[in-house]
Amino acid sequence: MANNIVVLGAGVSGLTTAYLLSQDPANKITVLAKHMPGDYDIEYASPWAGANYMPVGKEGSAHHKWERDTWPALKEITEKYPEAGIHFRGTLIYNRKKDQETDTGKWFSELTQPNPWYKDVVPDFKNVPSDQLAPGVDNAQEFTSVCINTAVYLPWLVGQCIKNGAVFKRAVFKHIADAANAHHTGQKADVVINCTGLSSKTLGGVLDDKMYPARGQIVVVRNDPGPMMSTSGTDDGEDEALYIMTRAAGGGTILGGSYQKHNWNGIPDMNLANRIMKRCIDICPSLVTKGQGIEGLDIIRHGVGLRPLREGGTRIEKDKVDGVAIVHNYGHGGFGYQASFGCAYTAVSLVKEVLQNKSRAKL
Ligand code: FAD
Repeated sequence: MANNIVVLGAGVSGLTTAYLLSQDPANKITVLAKHMPGDYDIEYASPWAGANYMPVGKEGSAHHKWERDTWPALKEITEKYPEAGIHFRGTLIYNRKKDQETDTGKWFSELTQPNPWYKDVVPDFKNVPSDQLAPGVDNAQEFTSVCINTAVYLPWLVGQCIKNGAVFKRAVFKHIADAANAHHTGQKADVVINCTGLSSKTLGGVLDDKMYPARGQIVVVRNDPGPMMSTSGTDDGEDEALYIMTRAAGGGTILGGSYQKHNWNGIPDMNLANRIMKRCIDICPSLVTKGQGIEGLDIIRHGVGLRPLREGGTRIEKDKVDGVAIVHNYGHGGFGYQASFGCAYTAVSLVKEVLQNKSRAKL
């Protein structure tokens, strides 16, 4: 018996969930979304991400489990499918204890501590010897991570889903229950998976007022310094960040950033952009030719994305709205890629529960 499934949302959360579900031929999947890969819009977080794997989930939390479970999948895709636009990259993390009470410092507190859980997950983890630390840095570590070229990876996910029979359609919904009536077969969907990110705040039937943005501003440049790096904070502001991510497959280098909670402004702030570029050159002089400042950066574009944060954490659970079975998978903040497979595995197991109940009801 076929299972009619609607995935609402085509960001990394919706596409990863659809990708896993599409591997079972019994699932007939329609992916519906206002924005699709190729679009750049302030309502669509996924294209703006770096994106890399820098775990931030607190040890013992569900978030920790989702990130831990995502690494093997990203590693496998990197090794088996070079066309997915992911590569391995050396990564350096610098921690300054003075950042620990700032928004950025709290966000990165698990990432930057000297003995994090992820040391047993990522390859080549080692602490930098204390006599090699730059002034002001209290501890530092290096490991091998991945960097995802989102402009290649998101379309790759779409392609995998289509190859497995999924159908993609543009659609905008005011109410989540309406999505159940838009399955490509013309039949009502058995379940709708809600992967609408920050829009879950305003989508009828969900209206989750725990959702809020953390604004991330970036500069994408052609310069390629090699390794990735990140710090626990900056001296320019408590909600500003410093990271460098070198994307695979000619995707350029992402210079970041900011973590501005409750800030919805989609326009790049050029003063912030200058601070971002200066900070990145200070920490990584090899970004430019010796002696150059920000004039040595070859800018592709400035960008702003809104990380879909949720008070109390990501929501992955079953729900019923106006008689329609829903599985929510939204609220992934700044970790939507690095937790993508872990979250999607949980969502898929809930979808299976919904479908089993449907089969039992029909017996
Ligand atoms: P989105 O990508 O926002 O997708 C939502 C989808 O739902 C869209 O297709 C949209 O059109 C659709 N939709 C919404 N409402 C409706 C509606 N009413 N009707 C129809 N369709 C609708 N994460 C990492 O893991 N690593 C990183 O290095 C990283 N770096 C980041 C850097 C920046 C600057 C930013 C902004 C984010 C970063 N993130 C990173 C976080 C990551 O980008 C997000 O967690 C992730 O993209 C969220 O994906 P999503 O699919 O849940 O939401």
